[in-house]
Amino acid sequence: MTIDDAPRDALRGGPRELLRWVATGAAVSRADLSRLSGLSPSTVSQRVEALISQGLLEETGAGRSRGGRRPRQLAVPTGGAVVGAIDLGAHHARVGTLDLSGRVVQARTLPVRIEDGPEAVLGALLAEVTTLVGSDPAASAGRVSAATGSTVTDGSAAGALRGIGIGIPGPVQHATGRIVSPSRMPGWNGFDVAAFCAGRVDVPVIVDNDANLMALGAHRTAHPELDHAVYIKAGTGIGSGVISSGRLHRGAQGSAGDISHCRVVADPAPPCTCGNAGCLEAVASGAALVTALREQGVPVDDLTGVIRLIDDGDRQATALARQAGRAVGEILAVVVNFFNPQVVALGGRLADCEPLLASMRATLYERCLPLATQTLLIERVTAGQDVGITGAAHLVIDHVVAAA
Ligand SMILES: [Zn+2]
Repeated sequence: MTIDDAPRDALRGGPRELLRWVATGAAVSRADLSRLSGLSPSTVSQRVEALISQGLLEETGAGRSRGGRRPRQLAVPTGGAVVGAIDLGAHHARVGTLDLSGRVVQARTLPVRIEDGPEAVLGALLAEVTTLVGSDPAASAGRVSAATGSTVTDGSAAGALRGIGIGIPGPVQHATGRIVSPSRMPGWNGFDVAAFCAGRVDVPVIVDNDANLMALGAHRTAHPELDHAVYIKAGTGIGSGVISSGRLHRGAQGSAGDISHCRVVADPAPPCTCGNAGCLEAVASGAALVTALREQGVPVDDLTGVIRLIDDGDRQATALARQAGRAVGEILAVVVNFFNPQVVALGGRLADCEPLLASMRATLYERCLPLATQTLLIERVTAGQDVGITGAAHLVIDHVVAAA
């Protein structure tokens, strides 16, 4: 069990970037990598050899010659190496396996009762990863034993499970992988997710906040070329993840980007689960919208019901969505003025809620400096339901590449 930072290879041509160029098809040879990175052929060769020896790249025979000896082609191995990923939400978890380029191999959504506590919930989700790895014939070596929770490594195949990334819908202390004062996870406060998982699987487990994973997944898939980005995850709860200089910015403890308990203007200020009043989460989260609608006498079961009402043009639900969008915009305006990102993207289940996105956008333009919004992209996260597990996989892949 190791947790460390993403590799410091933001400079062009780091191992992670070389791997990504091959994974995306931008490069098929050492010569391509040398041209893309601007690095000397010998440096590229050295890095490629290291990636090959770690099983992260493989040679697949000779490519087309441009005069002279035909170059050996490079590929990301498809022979079974996968990473496991868990994106835990308040009511559901997305669990998947992804290959070393970050592409989803298998994924499924499971219902979750977060109040069942961490051992039961995480135990079941780890078992699900096991099942997915086991059902992929190419990746079945080195599988995790569902019965004992320990890893069975028979060494008969090169690939198999290389690590597991887990997203938690609450604050995670990055250095330890421990959950600290989550607002909607009774029984989880102080739980050491990393240690729990390390006792059950024999591969690296990396734990992070769900908004950070969404940010990483969305950045890598939609805007890897942009250096500065802010991603807001608006679902049952509300949070954000920050990409700075091309890397996930966690801050000193891992709480960077946690906007849920920033105070917004609201009269009356609704009470928050944290004990304060008027927090963004108490005004603009999915849970807040459910509560507010019920208080107005609208019978609604959950966030799905709220979204349906908004889609149907319900007056009260739409007004609340606009108010939520303004609140998110107010907090984001401070963030944008302070941080000057190139893109602000809204994800989570409320991202498709048009009135919320529109009023967030309007508030941003109203409250931000012209220089900050001149070229600012304000958009939806388009990566779909696998964005969280994609981010989780990239955390692990970065770790594996850094270790290589
Ligand atoms: Zn609060």
